[in-house]
Amino acid sequence: MDLNTARFTHGPHKGRTGAQKGPKYVTKLDKIPQLSPGERKELKEVCDKYAFRSNDYYLSLINWNDPDDPIRKIVIPDTKELEGGGRLDASNEESYTVVPGLQHKYQYTALLLVNDVCGAYCRFCFRKRLFMDLNDETQRDVSEGIAYIRRHKELSNVLLTGGDPLVLSTPKIENIVRQLREIEHVKIIRIGSKIPAFNPFRILNDPSLLDMFRKYSHGEKKIYIMAHFNHPRELTNEAISAMDMLARAGAVIINQTPLIKGVNNDPYTLAALFNKLSYIGVPPYYLFQGRPTAGNETFSIPIEKSFEIFEQARMLCSGLAKRARLVMSHSTGKIEVVGKTETHIYMRYHRAANPQERARFMVFERNPDAYWFDDYREAVTDYSIKKPYNCLDPD
Ligand code: SF4
Repeated sequence: MDLNTARFTHGPHKGRTGAQKGPKYVTKLDKIPQLSPGERKELKEVCDKYAFRSNDYYLSLINWNDPDDPIRKIVIPDTKELEGGGRLDASNEESYTVVPGLQHKYQYTALLLVNDVCGAYCRFCFRKRLFMDLNDETQRDVSEGIAYIRRHKELSNVLLTGGDPLVLSTPKIENIVRQLREIEHVKIIRIGSKIPAFNPFRILNDPSLLDMFRKYSHGEKKIYIMAHFNHPRELTNEAISAMDMLARAGAVIINQTPLIKGVNNDPYTLAALFNKLSYIGVPPYYLFQGRPTAGNETFSIPIEKSFEIFEQARMLCSGLAKRARLVMSHSTGKIEVVGKTETHIYMRYHRAANPQERARFMVFERNPDAYWFDDYREAVTDYSIKKPYNCLDPD
């Protein structure tokens, strides 16, 4: 099959034409016949608090005979979301917002929040606050953000995120990408997206989206897709074809996922995800420790357990499949968990908001009940790597 010209259909949508084809969105639990009336009633309170959205393609991946099905856990609400603590903005993202819709935390990288909608809503989302009525952190008009990027010549990386940028129409995405490409110092444009998992037809059936990648991702100026596959069963034939088409159009694709209780917190599942990603040429990039976000306690795993699962999974992977780092997106930076002994655990700032903390190596006393960086007490202080003059840290 010629992937450049083929059209893909899904289930009941066969026969519709052009970019209209593809899954039908589902925003009400009443539209899911596999849920009993009792379940729908019980889950209403959860949906009133944290938005629900999915589509019939993604719902078709669920094994409804298994109440613990991992794909079900990713999108179907659970009353346990109403339990536990946590904050809506667990990494203080809002404090790094410098103009509406733009976060500037690390020297060389800016985040442009271009919308507040995703292909579906992950129940463990760390940005669920953006889907709530009071959200004012995203901006459909990105002109102020782009003007800020133009003024800041140190910004070589721009991450388009939200929400999910690939939910926007191609002309809207292209308008943003074109303006960024006109800024000489912006080298890498990243698009954070779970659309390849939630709705690969968005890619398969829109040749103009692929044309955009051909036009703006080449040479020394690439567009990266930061894909978001959590479980190997999301890597369907359609998803793999979509990634293949993106790659052929010039995109560089890598994957990042949180470690999620009930979804991928088993070394064999995680290794299967990492290995399968490597087979299709998508390197695993980050494995995130779940942030202590409101409603997410049911998905959380203690850090030291996460490290064990991660290391066990790595033992089941080829070198190409085990390139991910286990990191926490903490308010002070991206902190990598690098090792542990019987008494201590070792971490390092992989990225630091404060330049003085770049690459800082840290030793903590073990705490098996720690779920987040703040739960540790530093055992050794004053250890740091001397920075090279005029240090570049563009990662
Ligand atoms: S794709 Fe990302 S931003 Fe969207 S719901 Fe999932 S975790 Fe949240």
